[in-house]
Amino acid sequence: MKKIKIETLLAHDGKKAHSKGAVVPPIYQNSLFTMESWEDIDQAFDDRVNNYIYSRGNNPSVRIVEDKIAQIAGGESAKLFASGMGAISASILSCIEKGSHVITIKNIYGPTNNLLQSYFKPKFGIDITYISGTEISEFENAIQDNTSLIFLESPSSVIFSLQDIKSISKLAKNKGIKTIIDNTWATPIYQKPLAMGVDLEVHSCSKYICGHSDVVAGVVIGSEEIITNIFTKEFELLGAKIAPFEAWLLLRSLRTLKIRMEQHQKNALIIAKFLEKHPKIEKVNYPGLKSFPQYELGKKQMTGFSSLMSFQLKTDDLEKIKQFFNGLSLFQIGVSWGGHESLIYAPAISYLKELSKEQFDEMGIQLGDMRISIGLESAEDLMEDINRSLSSI
Ligand SMILES: *Cc1c(COP(=O)(O)O)cnc(C)c1O
Repeated sequence: MKKIKIETLLAHDGKKAHSKGAVVPPIYQNSLFTMESWEDIDQAFDDRVNNYIYSRGNNPSVRIVEDKIAQIAGGESAKLFASGMGAISASILSCIEKGSHVITIKNIYGPTNNLLQSYFKPKFGIDITYISGTEISEFENAIQDNTSLIFLESPSSVIFSLQDIKSISKLAKNKGIKTIIDNTWATPIYQKPLAMGVDLEVHSCSKYICGHSDVVAGVVIGSEEIITNIFTKEFELLGAKIAPFEAWLLLRSLRTLKIRMEQHQKNALIIAKFLEKHPKIEKVNYPGLKSFPQYELGKKQMTGFSSLMSFQLKTDDLEKIKQFFNGLSLFQIGVSWGGHESLIYAPAISYLKELSKEQFDEMGIQLGDMRISIGLESAEDLMEDINRSLSSI
């Protein structure tokens, strides 16, 4: 059969996990799977990765989702985790050892930064170099003899800056350095880092892949060899497994991933263009805008754009900033993103707690920076809501 398209893959599960013709596969709410004989269980242990023995390792409700995500991302294999951070910590651990050097970008997702900087660095003595990531020369200059990992996030958190995935992967491969990318923003629908040479792709499935704001989960995708390695070490031993019910909810979510992303993108572009022209807005950070400094690179390595963006209010009067923030009615206040509902968050709320004034300035974050996740509502209603709240300040 001709290679089937993504929307077909997402809508069908194949017949493997169905029983009695059920159109939706059942939830295998099992901690263990029994066998017929000594010989059967003995044989099952010879391939723990592919047999169902115990649900800390493998479970059919989880496996069906892993296979589907691997296929849409163009990877050989995938492993689901209890959270995005579970997937990120396991994948980083699989690429470092005591004394390793890691290169990453300044605007990396906060908890990933904390994991490297406040946990792995003091515990394992790893060394970290932070770069903006926009120039390939920064990577070339940062590489040391003990560099074992380049950790990318493109687009990055907060300012959505991009890294040239293909060139960086090529450079890393030549030097025997592993690459991981956090691909949560673009999803496997709009960006295929494995095809560009990255070793491991990680996602927080809590965002667009779930899309209904009812699951926290993560996934790692890569070659069969690397995923098998992660399965038997970081996955089974650290134990950050996903529950069968949550995997089942993700299977539900995947059926609409492509059409949801199309709607998120459509809404986001309308809102971004509106914000860009508004007199009370200083700047909009959205890779889908032609005015975005790396628009051309974005077009080259992504086939679409999602709906998380940030913008800066012109005012730096904290009272007015709060008034705008609290004055919205369709945008709910909260962390996370990628769900059906529109959300707003101000990065300053976290960073003012965690960083010194100098570090805050260094990251290029302003008091009036707003991060919004555009949901599946009517773009017109959302625009009106923002406009109304802006008029009040
Ligand atoms: C949310 C998020 C994560 C962490 O995922 P969890 O599922 O919350 O653990 C990782 N990377 C990015 C870019 C995120 O936004």
